[in-house]
Formats: sequence, structure tokens, C-alpha cells
Amino acid sequence: MNLVFVSAEAAPFSKAGGLADVAGSLPEALTPYLDSVTTITPLYGQIDTEKHNILATGERGHIDMGEETFHYALHQLNDPDATAHVIFIECAPLFGRQGIYTKANGEGFDDNNIRYFFFQLVVLDVLTRGIVKADLLHCNDHHTGLLPLLLKDTDLSTRTVFTIHNFLYHGHFSVADCANLPDGIVKHLTRTQWDNFSALLEGIDHSDVVTTVSPGYAKELIEGINVDAHSHTILQRAIHKFSGIVNGIDTSYWNPEKDQYTPHHYSAENIHGKMDNKLALLKETGLDADTDAPLFGSISRLVENKGFPLIVDLLDEFVALGAKFVFLGSGDPVITDQLQSAQQKHPGRIAFDAGFNEPLAHLIEAGSDIFLMPSRFEPCGLNQLYSLRYGTIPLVNRTGGLGDTVSDYKGNDGTGFVFEPYELDALRNAMKRTLQVFKSEDQWSSLIQRAMAEDFSWDQSAKQYYNLYKS
Ligand code: ADP
Repeated sequence: MNLVFVSAEAAPFSKAGGLADVAGSLPEALTPYLDSVTTITPLYGQIDTEKHNILATGERGHIDMGEETFHYALHQLNDPDATAHVIFIECAPLFGRQGIYTKANGEGFDDNNIRYFFFQLVVLDVLTRGIVKADLLHCNDHHTGLLPLLLKDTDLSTRTVFTIHNFLYHGHFSVADCANLPDGIVKHLTRTQWDNFSALLEGIDHSDVVTTVSPGYAKELIEGINVDAHSHTILQRAIHKFSGIVNGIDTSYWNPEKDQYTPHHYSAENIHGKMDNKLALLKETGLDADTDAPLFGSISRLVENKGFPLIVDLLDEFVALGAKFVFLGSGDPVITDQLQSAQQKHPGRIAFDAGFNEPLAHLIEAGSDIFLMPSRFEPCGLNQLYSLRYGTIPLVNRTGGLGDTVSDYKGNDGTGFVFEPYELDALRNAMKRTLQVFKSEDQWSSLIQRAMAEDFSWDQSAKQYYNLYKS
């Protein structure tokens, strides 16, 4: 069984969110089960080809889209330690820029539809020309949502799996955009209630199997929570082929015992380094250096659904109760302003880094006491999994993957703090409960031990994907 995994982002080469983490680690975890695994992803301008030893394969091609022809060249990763192949699609006019989906100011590129139509048409070209063999094509999110339908328009017998990493992003495109797609598929597209098309829904409709990244989120989607009427119809007709598999994490990259970005290493048996990392984090972010006060950490795209409207309303109150906060994230300018103001109002108590900062993300995981992740909805969530591994206690809303992976503290049981419903008072109570338990060194230590004993490596989930592929 030869698997091709298609993703618009893949860590460590390009990353905007959790999709990159999955595309960077799941293919490797699948190689023991399959004859070959190949990831295909764009070669963005931000990818350092020299550092990663990415070289041109010599294969080239072109795609006609409407009036225009775009040329591509294939490149591949040369890494003796990698077991999965990684192929990059180079096309400077479409992918040569720095950003993945957005300009430096956070605005999406105007030609994203063209960019990801092109991406999918190149994948199809590579498969039909036999450059890469695929018995199975695993597509991810809307950037790859047209591939199942595109494949049906060929002689290939490749089967398709489509994974929804976030149902919020549909990749809507217009009737006019269809001029850039082959006629053979356009007649099979389904119009949404807004008289446009959704690449995400096309992926769900036309793939052989659909998955999402946790059983909890699968249930919410099927029940129609946060789902419009048209999407609900499409999801209902996919029920027979729809399941949820929780994401795993790359346990060698996110490993407190040898994290390349943290100054001190530690394990559940030898936890002292965690406190040293806390001090390093406080110093690095300009927070008061008393390590006794509870420190809440947050690493997130700054978007409404990650819970920021609730968080910002509680900052004054919890600073007054002695807590400190460190935020890392970029995105929505309104949330950015709110966090900047909070930092100015409470110097030494609240720190905010408005960038994308991989080393700081690791230090926040290692140095915080509590990881604050009160998302309104969360397909899977990865940071709560990294937090468990780093003994940083997650505080989460009971939704999607958060509810599946964190269990609520109950004396001698539980790995974090879980609240519901998604309301200010519920979050306030959970934060107060957290501070209460934090005061008891014994209880907090055993909570850390239980969190660190959790196993979210890919082993279990990769097996589930393999069984699905076999079926
Ligand atoms: P989502 O995919 O919705 O953004 P996830 O929790 O699944 O949320 O994954 C987010 C990933 O992106 C995590 O690996 C997180 O550490 C990382 N991340 C998000 N924002 C930043 C940032 N500003 N700097 C560094 N890493 C970030």
C-alpha cells in the first residue's frame, strides 16, 4: 500500500497551525505499516532549502489554468533519518513568497484559490504521470478538498481519505473561479446556500472516507454544532464513512528531557528542571522573577474561537489574585491590542509576544504551571497535549478534542481542569479552582505526575489510520 499525504503546510518546513504538526509527524508514524509514504506540500519562500537539504529532482511540468500557464518543479527532502518521503512543489509566482496563507499584516493573499487549485492540479499531474505511485491519497483540509473529485475524473484507481482539521475554514470559491478548474469536475460541484462552492465540503462529499481529528469533534459536527444548514446536509450524507481519530504528537521533538529550545531538561522522575525553566521564562519575558506565583501560559493563533474574549475579561481579577500570564500569538488585531494593553497595565505580571516564535513556544510549555486553552471549539488541539507531556496543567473548555484528551481534576484523579459551558463564570470558577489546587504542593505534584504519565504519541492513532486505510 503506497500512501500519498497531501498538506498545505508541514512542520518543520512550513507551519501556520496544528495541521503542520500533523503533516510533519503522522506520515513518519505510518511508515512501519505501509510500503511507502510520501508527503506532498508547496515549497514556500520561507522554507530554508539549504538547511533542510531539499534538492530539485529534475521533474518538471506545467498546469494550464484558465488563460494562464504555471510551471512547476519538484524538489525532495534528503534526510537519511526520515522514513517518509517529502516532495515539495516549487512555483515561484504562487508559492515563492514569505507567507503561507497571509501577508505580513495577517490579510489572506488575494489569489489563495488559484494557489491551492494549482497545488491540487500538480498533485494530480504527478500521480497521473506516475512520478509518485498512490494506492491511497490522504487529503487534509480545504486546500486539498478537490482532489477526491479530480481523481474520479482520471483512470487512476487511487482511494481517498479526507481529514477535517478545522471545519471553520471552507476554502469558498466563486463561479468565476471555476474557470481555473477542469470542466470534468465543475459539473459535479455542489453550490452552497451562498451561491458559491466550498472546497472543504467537496472533499467530504467525494472522498471514500472522511475523518476528523477527535471523536468529540466528529460527534459535534454530526450533531450540527456550529454547522450551517447546507454543510449539515453534506455531513449527514457522509455519516456512514465518517469517524474521529485523535491527533498524536511528535514525542521526540516535544520532549522535556531533550528539548533543543529549553535551557533545562527534566522528566517526571526528575522534575527540578521545570522550576529552572520557569525562572528562565520569567526572565526571558520580563515578568517578575518570583517563581512561587502561579504562571498561566498561552500559545495560540489570536482568533475569537480560542477563548480570548473570556480570557481578557478575567486578567485584572486574576492578576489581583497573584497570578501571572505569558501570551504568545499572532492574528486578530483587536485581540493583539487587548493583550498589548493588558501587558502595559500590568508590567511584570502579564507578558505578550505578538510573533510566531518556536523557541519561546517550547519555553512556555516547559516553564508555565498552567496552560490556558479555553477554546469555544477545538477540533483536536495540540498544545494541551504538549502541556501534559511537559507537566504544565491544561485548563480547557470541554469541547472537541480538549474534552477527549484532558480529564477534570478530582482529588486523586484527573489530568487538568475542564469547565463547561463556554461562559465567563465557568472559566472564572475553573481558574479559581486551579489556583486553589496549586496552593497545595502535594496535590499539584501528583497532578503533574498524572499529566506526564499520559501517552499521546502517534502509536495508537497511526494504527487507527492504518486500519482505516486497510478497510
Ligand atoms: P490550531 O491548529 O487551531 O492553530 P493547535 O493547537 O492544533 O491549534 O496547533 C497550533 C500549533 O501552532 C501548536 O504547535 C502551537 O504551538 C503552534 N503555534 C500557534 N501559535 C504560535 C506562535 N505564535 N508561535 C509559535 N507556535 C505557535
